[in-house]
Amino acid sequence: LKEVTEGKVRIFVPDPKEYMIEGKFDPSWAPVFYNPKMTFNRDLSVIVVSLLKPKIILDALSATGIRGIRYYVESWKSEQLILNDKNSTATSLIQINVKNNGIENAKIYNKDANVLLYEIKSEYIDIDPFGSPVPFILSSINATIRNGIVAFTATDLSPLEGSSRTSCRRKYDAINYKLSSSKELGLRILIGKIIREAAMLEKTVYPLFSFYADYYYRLFVRVESGARKADENINKNLKYFGECPRCGFQTFVDENCKIKCPICGENFIIIGPLYIGPLHNMEFLKRMIDIYNNFNYLSSFNRIQKLLNVIEKEAKYKSVFYNISKLASKLKVSAIPPIDSILECLGDASKSHFAPTGIRTDKGYEEIIRCVKNLR
Ligand code: SAM
Repeated sequence: LKEVTEGKVRIFVPDPKEYMIEGKFDPSWAPVFYNPKMTFNRDLSVIVVSLLKPKIILDALSATGIRGIRYYVESWKSEQLILNDKNSTATSLIQINVKNNGIENAKIYNKDANVLLYEIKSEYIDIDPFGSPVPFILSSINATIRNGIVAFTATDLSPLEGSSRTSCRRKYDAINYKLSSSKELGLRILIGKIIREAAMLEKTVYPLFSFYADYYYRLFVRVESGARKADENINKNLKYFGECPRCGFQTFVDENCKIKCPICGENFIIIGPLYIGPLHNMEFLKRMIDIYNNFNYLSSFNRIQKLLNVIEKEAKYKSVFYNISKLASKLKVSAIPPIDSILECLGDASKSHFAPTGIRTDKGYEEIIRCVKNLR
C-alpha cells in the first residue's frame, strides 16, 4: 500500500509499483481502484456536496472510499456516511481509510450496489462506476428520498458520443451518430436515458450541475416524484437533434423522421431521443460560483475556476454549441478567424467548455456563418 494525499484526506491505495505491467500502470490492474486523474471530478463534487448538505451520503461504488471520505471531511459532516463496494478487498481498505481519517460513524457494506440500493434510502447517492452508469440508474433513482440528488460519472464516451453506435442503441436506447457537437450531445443522451428510467418509477430528474472533462461526463440530478412531473419533463424536454451533413446547420427536432435541412435541403442526420433542457440549475450554479473560493486549497483550484467561469457564461444559451472548426470545414472556409473575434462579431455569444472550438449563442445560423466567413 501507499499513502496519498488528496484534498484534506490521506488515503491508503494499492502501490502502483506493485502492479506495473511492462513499466505501465492502469488503475484497473490493482486489487482496489484508485485513479489520481479523477481528482478533478472529486474536487468539484466536494464543492457540490458542501452546498447540498445531505443528511445521508451513499457512495455506492466506493473502491478506496476516497469520495465519501472526502465529502465527510471536506464538504460537510453528514449524519450518516455509507460506503459500499462489492469487492471485499476494497471494503477492507475502506475500513482502514475511514478510521485513519477519524470517521467513526461510517457504515460500510460489501454488497452489489443494486442490492444495497433496494435495501436503503439516501438523500445523496454517488454512482461512480467503470464505464457506463446505466446498470445503476433505476436503483439509484429509486433509492433517493426527499427530492434527493444522484451524481453520475460516465466514462463510456464512445457510445454516448456516437462512435460506438450499436452500443449506444443497446445501453441508452438512442440512435446516435458522431456529429460536430457530440461532446455535448452525449451528455444529453445520458440525461435523456435517466429521465426515461426515472419515469418508470413515476419520478423525474432535473440537472443541477454537469460537465465534461478529460474522458468522462459528471452529472448531478435532482430527483422529484410524481407521474405528472415525469410526463411534463418528457413532453417538454425529450426530443431529437438534427445536423445537416452538408451545411452544418443544427437544431432540436420533435421526431425521428426524414427531415430536410431548411437551409440547404440536404437530409438531416437525426439522433436521439435526448434531453434538450438546461444542463444546470442557474441558481445552484450561482451558489457554486459564490463559494468555490473557499476551496482554494484544492490542487485543481485553477482548473475549477476556469471551468466555472466558462460554464457560467455558456449556461444562459439554450442552443447546442456550434463547433466552428467542423462548421468551417463543411463550408470549405480555410482561414477561420480566431474564436475571440467570432465571439466579438456575434456579440451575444460565449465559448463552451465542451470544445476549444465551440461557440454558444442563440443567434441564427446565418449570423454565425457570416462571422465564421469574416463577412461584416
Ligand atoms: N468512486 C471511486 C473513486 O472515486 O475513487 C472509484 C470507483 S471505481 C471506478 C468502481 C468501483 O465499483 C470498483 O471498486 C468496483 O469494485 C465497484 N463495483 C463494480 N460493480 C459493482 C457493483 N455492481 N456493486 C458494487 N460495487 C461495484
